Amino acid sequence: MKRKPLIAANWKMNKGIGESLDYFLKFKDKNIDYSQVDVLIAPPYISLYPMYKEIKANKSPIFLSSQNIYMKDEGAYTGEISAAMVKSCGATYTILGHSERREYFNETDEIVNMKLKKAISAELNIILCVGERDIEREAGVAYEVVLSQLGKSLMGVTEEEIERIAIAYEPVWAIGTGKTASSEDAEAMHNEIRKKIEILYNKTIGESIRILYGGSVKPENIRELMQKENIDGALVGGASLDVEKFCKIATFYA
Ligand code: PEP
Repeated sequence: MKRKPLIAANWKMNKGIGESLDYFLKFKDKNIDYSQVDVLIAPPYISLYPMYKEIKANKSPIFLSSQNIYMKDEGAYTGEISAAMVKSCGATYTILGHSERREYFNETDEIVNMKLKKAISAELNIILCVGERDIEREAGVAYEVVLSQLGKSLMGVTEEEIERIAIAYEPVWAIGTGKTASSEDAEAMHNEIRKKIEILYNKTIGESIRILYGGSVKPENIRELMQKENIDGALVGGASLDVEKFCKIATFYA
């Protein structure tokens, strides 16, 4: 089945509003065939609305995403941002369950599941991140870890709701380290994830869900990864901070 690739930039805690807008104004003029690829940018919260205004003014097809949301609608949660607030900035996506959130902010699968439900209620689409640590891969339990994260994070999510979700397989040991999973290892994990989605939902959903790879993706390795049957795109951290590099990644099909 042909799934439209999604190439997503996760800027993490990088770029203020001015730098975000500079980046977008350069990127929008790049020659990208948006009939072949969806492109998404996840800047820090503060840049969502200014970028949305530019995206709209330029009729750009780029999707805008937050990197996180909180699992409550409103209230005394100093420093947090709700799904509806993100939506009100013009974003249509949020990333959830990134390994940095899991590691530095103690996000469990149960928290990710609560956030996911809030994102769905706010009609946001979601990139749900899963991935094993190096000790888990070395211990031979990578599949169990990832499939368990997936099952728990998706608890109670219906067939209709799963249409809003793309999965990002991001082996933790490959994020920001320069190490990439081999395309064969990534493909094998993506295949397992797809099979699990088929079991949890059905074959049609399993075949249509987009599964992105993340972990030191760069212009030099994107083509090989994208040749694999079950790799439907990439979640890109470090290399997405540079307009030229991200453009090369987004035009992997050329
Ligand atoms: C990420 O943060 O999702 C990521 C994959 O980072 P990097 O590309 O820098 O490894």
